[in-house]
Amino acid sequence: MIDVLTNGFLTNPIPIQFTGNYCSHGCVYCFSNINNPKRKLDVKGVLSQLKNFKKRDDLASFYMREKYPILFSNNIDPFSKSNQPYVNDLILTLRDLEIPVALATRGGQGWKDIYQEITPSVFYVTIPYSDDVIREKYEPKAPSLSERWEMTEELIKQGHKVIISINPLNKTFCSNPLEIISEAQKLGVESFVINKLHLTPKQQSNLTDREKSILGTELLTEAKSKGFQDNWIDQGMEMMNYCSENNLNLLGMDTGLTNSNYFEFKQCYDNLLPTLDDFFNWVSVTKEIGDYIYFEEFYNFFSVRLPDLQGNISKYIFNRAVINDKDFYKKMDLRNLLHLYWQHSKAGLNIPANYPSFSWVKKQYSTKLDFLFDDEHNQIMIYHGDEFNANETVII
Ligand code: SF4
Repeated sequence: MIDVLTNGFLTNPIPIQFTGNYCSHGCVYCFSNINNPKRKLDVKGVLSQLKNFKKRDDLASFYMREKYPILFSNNIDPFSKSNQPYVNDLILTLRDLEIPVALATRGGQGWKDIYQEITPSVFYVTIPYSDDVIREKYEPKAPSLSERWEMTEELIKQGHKVIISINPLNKTFCSNPLEIISEAQKLGVESFVINKLHLTPKQQSNLTDREKSILGTELLTEAKSKGFQDNWIDQGMEMMNYCSENNLNLLGMDTGLTNSNYFEFKQCYDNLLPTLDDFFNWVSVTKEIGDYIYFEEFYNFFSVRLPDLQGNISKYIFNRAVINDKDFYKKMDLRNLLHLYWQHSKAGLNIPANYPSFSWVKKQYSTKLDFLFDDEHNQIMIYHGDEFNANETVII
């Protein structure tokens, strides 16, 4: 089905994605396959979406009408055997409807049939290894590294934009990820994405004994921990330094400073959602270090850049279980939604927790220490710029 990318709202410029059959590339750490190993494409459902999106009132149809790109996909590889040739037929149908696509892939079947048929598009190509023997252990049925590099080169020659996803980044998979970056750099790649290996305890309980033994105890322990290991941060810092010296983008180690993340998307697509990165760029030109940032500014920034969303926007509350007032989201408007994203500790963006350029402001009142609030009881942030502060709150 084509559905809203709910947990990418304000962080990913692409609003919708396609989900098909389970992915036959069979990566041992694939959370999508682990979560739902028997998932099957709802062919009738997709056909109905293609036939009726002009009159349906759901959010995914709205974005299709407005010709926002569709991501293929966070849940499947479009060029996996289990999703071809259906996916290529769908992409060509979307092309005829003038709905663009972005593709996240490790390569495989069918990309050669499609890449010259579509307008310049963004391809995330995943290459978390520099040694194919190690790759084969963890991604046994996915294409070899040489095939992925060949695809990267061909895509760029054709005018597509490639972002290399080094995901999962882990020293067990690749001891020197700078080798991947410099190889990609030679081909003209300018952006890289990193993320750690995430597998919740529940997901790990669904792994087979064989999968558990391939991953091993050390990796499984790392994968369920919420924070980042020191060695992950060390690798990330080394990559960040290399990227900043070489004028490259590294997504995944962001600080909240001005950046050119997602510039490839802006070159390929007319319609995109605004993201936090756009907001950070706005902050960097309008605020000085030590300035306060108010919810009203956050709301004004996004409300004028978001389309007039038609459909049930409460879909964007990606963590509904933590919202106590269930009536609240039934009549949700954009201001309510952005308020949750601004300051809800479990359903929000947690900007001060995730980006060292920002903290919440707390104040010592006569009887208690509390957040500093504006007139409407919204919390207030302070901007640290490049004088980073890792504390989520600062006291004035
Ligand atoms: S290619 Fe992606 S979707 Fe397919 S099995 Fe590997 S991680 Fe999962």
